[in-house]
Amino acid sequence: MNNHLIFHKSRPGKMGVTLPECDVPTTSLEDIFSGEELRSNSANLPEVTEPDVVRHYTNLSSKNHHVDKDVYPLGSCTMKYNPKVNDMMAGLPGLSSIHPAQPEETVQGALAIMAGLEEQLKAMTGMERFTLQPTAGSQGELVGVLIMQAYHAKNGDNRKQILIPDTAHGTNPATVAMGGYDVLQVKSDERGRVDLDDLRQKLSPEVAGMMLTQPNTLGLFEDNITEITHLVHEAGGLMYMDGANLNALLGLVKSADMGFDILHINLHKTFSTPHGGGGPGSGPIGVTSELEKFLPSPLVVENDGRYSLESTRSDSVGRVHTFFGNFGILVRAYTYIRMLGLEGIHAISRQAILNANYLMSKLTDAYDIAFDGPCMHEFVLSANRQKERGIRALDIGKRLLDFGFHAPTVYFPLNVPEAMMTEPTDSETMESLDRFAEAMLKIDEESKSDPEKVRNAPYSTPVRRLDETAANRNPNLRWRPE
Ligand SMILES: *Cc1c(COP(=O)(O)O)cnc(C)c1O
Repeated sequence: MNNHLIFHKSRPGKMGVTLPECDVPTTSLEDIFSGEELRSNSANLPEVTEPDVVRHYTNLSSKNHHVDKDVYPLGSCTMKYNPKVNDMMAGLPGLSSIHPAQPEETVQGALAIMAGLEEQLKAMTGMERFTLQPTAGSQGELVGVLIMQAYHAKNGDNRKQILIPDTAHGTNPATVAMGGYDVLQVKSDERGRVDLDDLRQKLSPEVAGMMLTQPNTLGLFEDNITEITHLVHEAGGLMYMDGANLNALLGLVKSADMGFDILHINLHKTFSTPHGGGGPGSGPIGVTSELEKFLPSPLVVENDGRYSLESTRSDSVGRVHTFFGNFGILVRAYTYIRMLGLEGIHAISRQAILNANYLMSKLTDAYDIAFDGPCMHEFVLSANRQKERGIRALDIGKRLLDFGFHAPTVYFPLNVPEAMMTEPTDSETMESLDRFAEAMLKIDEESKSDPEKVRNAPYSTPVRRLDETAANRNPNLRWRPE
C-alpha cells in the first residue's frame, strides 16, 4: 500500500498549508477505484453555518465539567491542566500536515520529536528503551503482558498466572485475562500495602510476573518495593509497573532502580495531554535491556544526526497500532516536558504530593481517611460517617457539581467502603484547593442539617441524576432537539 499514496506534489493541504516537496508516486482516486465505486454527486450531509457549529460546541462544553472550568480531582485519572502551548505545537503544519507513510528524509523533525521524547522518558525512569506506539495505558499493559509471554516462551517456559494486588485499577485484571493469563490476587495488609506473607504464599513456578501500581491506587508508596521485586524475580517472574500516574515519582525515584522490568506511563495523565471520553491517549512502554528485543516495531533510531525507523526486530511482539500511535499526543507531551525542563519536571511531583497532603489535612476532621499517614499524589476518603446520616459517596459527588466542582473517583478502590479517591494534581493553586475543601465541608454540614438536599443533588446541571449504564449503552446522539 505504501506505493499507492493518494499524494500529489505540493498539494495544498488543509487550511491552505502546502505539504513539503518530496519524491512520492502521484496517484489519483481514479487510478485506484473504478468508475462505479466513485460517487457522481455529493453526499447529502446536513448544511450548517460556522456560527451554528461554534455555538453548538460552546454550549455543549459549558454543560459539561472539564479542567478548563474548575477543579477536577478524579483520583487515579490525573485530570491536570492541559497547557494551550501543547496544542499550538501539535498544530504546527510541519507536524499536523504530514503523512505517516512519507519518506523518512521528509519527516526528520517528527522523528526527532519521538526520539527526544523517548530519551526524556528513559532519563526519568531508568528504563533502556521505550515504544511510543500504545494509545492507552491499558493497551500498554497488554503490550507488557505480551512481552512477559514472549520472554518466558523464549526460555521454554509456559507460566499461567500473573499476580495483582487487590487495590489494582480495573484495567490490570482485564488486561491479564485478555493476555490469556489467570489473575492471582494478592491481599493488602492493614497499612494498605502488598501483604508480603500473602505474596510469598502465592509465588510459584506458575507465576509469569506481577503487575503492580506504584504508588498504589490508595495513593500510598509501596515501601517494601525492593523486597517485592526481589521475591518475584527469585521465583522467575517479571515485575510490571503500572506507572499510569508518574505524577508522584518524577525526580524522586526511578522505576528501574526499584527493580521493575516493564513499565507503562500514561502521557495523558502525568504529561498533561488531554483525555476523557475515551481518548486520545498514549501509553508508552519502557523495558530493561534484557527485554528490549521484544518491543513492538518500528522504533526510531538516530545515526549521525539522521533519524530513521528500524523495523527489523526478530523477537518483536509485533505492531500494536498503526504507524506511531497518537503522534499529536506525543508532540504535546514532549512540549510540556521541554517547556518545564528538568527542574520543572522534578517540581511536578513535589507539588502534586504537597497539594494532596494539604487537601487531605483540610478534610480529615469531617471525613474518614482510609489509611493514615502522608499520601503521595492522591488519597482515599471514606464517606462512612456521612452514610450513617443516609448520605452516600455518590450523593456527595453529585452535590459537588452544584458548587462547580467535579467529584472525586467514587467507589474505588474496591477495598474501601464509600470510597472517594481524591487527586487534586500539581496544577491547582492553594486558593482553588481551599475552595474545594470549603465545598466538601459545607456538604458534610448539609448532611447533618439538610440531608434531603444532598440526596437530591445536583440542581444546577442540565440533567439531574441519570441511569448512567443506560446513558452509556443507549446514548442520545441527536444533533438538534426534536
Ligand atoms: C488510568 C489508569 C490506567 C488505564 O489507563 P487508560 O489510558 O485509561 O487505559 C491503568 N492504571 C491506572 C493506575 C490508571 O490510573
